[in-house]
Amino acid sequence: MAVPLIQQIRVGAYILKQKLAGRARYPLVLMLEPLFRCNLACPGCGKIAHPDDILNKRLSVEDCVAAAEECGAPIVSIPGGEPLIHKEMPQIVKALIARKKFVYLCTNGLLLEKKLDDYDPSPYLTFSVHLDGLGRDHDRAVGQDGVFERTVSAIRAALNRGHRVTVNCTLFNDAEPRKAADFFDFVMALGVESITVSAGYAYEKASAQEHFLSRTQTKALFRELFRIQKQEKKRWRFNQSLFYLDFLAGNRRYQCTPWGNPTYNVFGWQQPCYLIDEGHAPTFRALMEETDWAAYGVGRYEKCSDCMVHSGFEPTAVNDMVSHPLQALKLLIKGIRTEGPMAEDFDLSGARAVREESGSGEKTAENPPQTAERKRA
Ligand code: SF4
Repeated sequence: MAVPLIQQIRVGAYILKQKLAGRARYPLVLMLEPLFRCNLACPGCGKIAHPDDILNKRLSVEDCVAAAEECGAPIVSIPGGEPLIHKEMPQIVKALIARKKFVYLCTNGLLLEKKLDDYDPSPYLTFSVHLDGLGRDHDRAVGQDGVFERTVSAIRAALNRGHRVTVNCTLFNDAEPRKAADFFDFVMALGVESITVSAGYAYEKASAQEHFLSRTQTKALFRELFRIQKQEKKRWRFNQSLFYLDFLAGNRRYQCTPWGNPTYNVFGWQQPCYLIDEGHAPTFRALMEETDWAAYGVGRYEKCSDCMVHSGFEPTAVNDMVSHPLQALKLLIKGIRTEGPMAEDFDLSGARAVREESGSGEKTAENPPQTAERKRA
């Protein structure tokens, strides 16, 4: 099973249209966070650390549709929190699909089996189910026993009903390549469409800061994983571009494209990206026009130093692939290089230091950039 042709065509046509229109900055995936409340408390998650009054807030169906329409991205990813807790989630998904958005509904799987009746299978809807490892490894990652079994049962139920299902897996610095390889084998055997794999997000608010990966660790881990894949002829399917995977293996130097996956949540349009919260713009237009994008990225800001997250770098990789189709073909034929020197990385020594509190309670930098909130003040 692969990404349906209709999605490939629509997303490809969208990118081409942006390029022909000469748009320097355009969104690819809207990260829509309709709530932060979750029924788990994973130590590696920074989204659930808000106070109760924020965790009790919900975006309405109208808010979600308006954000998707204003942004215009062809793909809408709905993380959280746990989106299936939101009472109006079926209506939100239906309204987005009616507007021909490809919806990736992220879930930890605990409520999935119970809620399956609320959703019709569609090429426009994918359940992106969180699984970080096999059995107790996953239970440990989410801080609760028995979650792995329930989640796998929900994945099977969703597949049996004809839904598109992907697995969303985050690898932290205690990840062992062999174990991760066994886990990928298991997930593929379940029959899911693909795996979205991430290097542990550096969420500032997460309770377990010591488990996030440095850039060097990320590259070494992915080189080893891809070496196993090549040597043992594994048929893993990833829900990410070949260039992004090549970047994870240290073969490409990319700066991030934070506007490629803009984040809308109960505070507004988060500046500058999904991981960092240093203010909120009232509209998508304000986010794009008033954020000082040059102030963020690897080598520019300390908070960005270890970031290789897909929401920041996948749009860079996709843009590069569209511009270099022959390179992409060559990579497809030869496979990802797992030996030899890595691409030279950014110099981190000049990155702005992190200094004071701002945004929705997180830290900001020295020489703070001009965000919409500051401009309005
Ligand atoms: S590198 Fe880019 S995507 Fe990553 S935290 Fe910084 S601004 Fe966000």
